[in-house]
Amino acid sequence: MTLSVLSDDCYAMLTYRGRFAPSPTGPLHFGSLVAAVASYLDAKAHRGSWLVRIEDVDFDRNVAGADHALLRSLQRCGMKWDEEITWQSQRGVLYQAALDQLGRHVFACSCSRKEIADSRLRAGLSDSQIYPGTCRAGIADNKVARAYRLRVPDGAVACITFEDRLLGMQSQDLSTAVGDFVLKRADGFWAYQLAVVVDDATQGITDVVRGADLLDSSARQIYMQGILNYSTPRYLHVPVVINQNGEKLSKQTGAIAFDRGDNNLLQEALIPAAQFLGLIFTSTPQSIPEFWSRATELWAGKFGIQ
Ligand code: GLU
Repeated sequence: MTLSVLSDDCYAMLTYRGRFAPSPTGPLHFGSLVAAVASYLDAKAHRGSWLVRIEDVDFDRNVAGADHALLRSLQRCGMKWDEEITWQSQRGVLYQAALDQLGRHVFACSCSRKEIADSRLRAGLSDSQIYPGTCRAGIADNKVARAYRLRVPDGAVACITFEDRLLGMQSQDLSTAVGDFVLKRADGFWAYQLAVVVDDATQGITDVVRGADLLDSSARQIYMQGILNYSTPRYLHVPVVINQNGEKLSKQTGAIAFDRGDNNLLQEALIPAAQFLGLIFTSTPQSIPEFWSRATELWAGKFGIQ
């Protein structure tokens, strides 16, 4: 009997599930379009599914109507999602179940940001928000629980190593670079780190393709996947678009919407996004469908996807 062994790429081709996970904090700008295009092209090149998830757990930052506006912009760009859209704000039960499952790895914390900074200064450590472990053994009698944190181990197990499909081997020591991190915030909102891990797992995501500003979060997410017995997806982090001042494009840095309702999205948004991702067209695509089919071929060539 001959046993056939599938290569990583073959396996991903059969089952590939990718996602774009925007936060509805305003209209999509060119930087978020680049992340959307990269995740879409990777899913198409693998002949896989592409899901869209609205990451609206931070109620303070959500902008009313921004979710539907960004979905319309994706549609105007010819991007089609393969399953129903999910909204994180409707998935609190899943996040609570994961928090319960994390059990003894989670502890209640009463510290404010100022208290964390002060205790680090007292201990002669630099003034950062790396958690100094104050509430690990329980909160003081006169204090109340504000947030819930995941206990990060010390020693070799705290060092998480993974291979990024573009950037190569990555490693981060969670105990020195991050510290015990928040899963449920003092304002009662679910933290991004918990929600994203639960959603990627429950949606069966095999490949996370997103901006390199989130590279630093991957080790935390991989660590949590291990404790929760979830499988770890493959990761690919694409370069982040910066403005003339060297700042990442975002609402805070004044990035404008790429979709202004009547502009030419092919010429002004899609082709520049593909070029930013290093795809070189030998002649200019003349329509959005032609753009997607040629960009998908170029992406498959760049990443050796058959
Ligand atoms: N919601 C995050 C953002 O808009 C993306 C999260 C992710 O792709 O993991 O920056």
